[in-house]
Amino acid sequence: MYIDGEWVNSQSGETRSIINPFNQEIVATAAEGNEEDARAAIQAARLAFDEGRWGTLAANQRGEFVYEIGRLIRRDLQELAELETLDTGKTIQESKDDMEDIANVFQYYGGLADKNGGEVISSPIPDSQSKVVREPVGVCGQITPWNYPLLQAAWKIAPALAAGNTIVMKPSEITPLTTVKVFELIEEIGLPKGVANLVLGSGATVGAELSVNQNVDLISFTGGIETGKTIMQAASQNMKKIALELGGKNPNIVFADANFETAVDQALNAVFFHAGQVCSAGSRLLVEESIHDAFVEALIERAKRIRLGNGFDENTQSGPMISAEHRAKVESYVQIGKEEGATLAVGGKRPDNPELQNGFFYLPTIFTNCTKDMRIVQEEVFGPVLTVETFSSKEEAVRLANDTIYGLAGAVWTEDLNKADFIAARLRMGTVWVNDFHPYFAQAPWGGYKQSGIGRELGHEGLEEYTEVKHIYRNK
Ligand code: NAD
Repeated sequence: MYIDGEWVNSQSGETRSIINPFNQEIVATAAEGNEEDARAAIQAARLAFDEGRWGTLAANQRGEFVYEIGRLIRRDLQELAELETLDTGKTIQESKDDMEDIANVFQYYGGLADKNGGEVISSPIPDSQSKVVREPVGVCGQITPWNYPLLQAAWKIAPALAAGNTIVMKPSEITPLTTVKVFELIEEIGLPKGVANLVLGSGATVGAELSVNQNVDLISFTGGIETGKTIMQAASQNMKKIALELGGKNPNIVFADANFETAVDQALNAVFFHAGQVCSAGSRLLVEESIHDAFVEALIERAKRIRLGNGFDENTQSGPMISAEHRAKVESYVQIGKEEGATLAVGGKRPDNPELQNGFFYLPTIFTNCTKDMRIVQEEVFGPVLTVETFSSKEEAVRLANDTIYGLAGAVWTEDLNKADFIAARLRMGTVWVNDFHPYFAQAPWGGYKQSGIGRELGHEGLEEYTEVKHIYRNK
């Protein structure tokens, strides 16, 4: 753990084994911090903030530091990608792509740091002056999940530092490796001590302390909806600011006039990428009735060909799930789907391949004949499970797509761009893709409508989350 500019073990001396989900081998031993360690880190961040070690630096200087982290990530991209694959099982190409995105995020916010200006407003009081400025919020607690360990951390660390805050980061206890490595880079660039702190450990201890501690001014969390509610309740005790990036049950709408081949391939990519463990996974396919049979037939045939395997093998298209518990959760949803009367069209079990038996693998699974009230259609499975429903008009597509508590992302496939505009304007979601699935980048905001979250990451909106707005009025 990295607290107040020093590498430290947990005060209790406890550790946790970090497991490779491909073969269950122990790849590292991590410090297991608890509330006491969290409090030490919060205190360091508080002091660094209150003494102005960071927030009072010129914004362009802060930006240079943040930009430099991005440069070092590119320098160490191969090592970081390998660590991410060891820790999560995702393919090495996915990990490399993540690292590129991460470097871009740091460099984007590095460049944005000195463009966070305020404005002069016209005061109604004669001869007075009014200006509105943006200031850092203070000490920010940051909690990330295991599916995109460093990507989610970057979305928080980069804007928080660029805006002049000090931070305490807690990565998922099962995937801390790349975040630890980035704190080595933060040390290398010589960030003032106490500005960026890293505490490892569980959500129930370290995460809970960050959420409730009154010296934390803002808590930014990415993870499941139930954890989000717990954090929101804890944060309400002292009214700290909150930013929540939660789950999704994202519709992928395919019209009969879509490019058939691309739409089939991308429907598979939308849901089976990273074994479906993606908050924006296209897990609800809505297909126009007239092409349903042909579309489903093509999906099933191609789903069977997805190559599961070791993320380090270049032929692998999808790695394992993150853990035995998580796979068990997916299996229980498949059982629920069968009991609800959906048709299991493909998958629905672990692979037979003997080489995959030590990993937490699960076959790409497709349910057809799904209806909107089924639990497998409504609840986030967060695994390689696709449900298929049909629609016969654009109005019905919108109704079905929006029939969810979530509102993270959705996509529409059609050659008729007027129809695409009709859908895009009506989806109650933070991101809508037209004739594509999954693109996200530093420049565009990301976040959820409805129960998918509160606030936005990325884009200039992501920087503004980490600022307070102050009105300064001067009489003459
Ligand atoms: P999770 O909610 O179980 O855990 C996320 C983090 O919260 C971990 O670091 C965990 O230790 C911590 N945590 C757990 N209990 C806590 C508590 N009581 N107080 C404070 N912190 C606590 O989620 P997960 O299983 O790691 O990740 C999967 C979820 O994340 C899915 O629901 C997925 O949709 C969501 N997710 C959302 C986005 C997005 O951008 N919206 C991105 C990635 C993942």
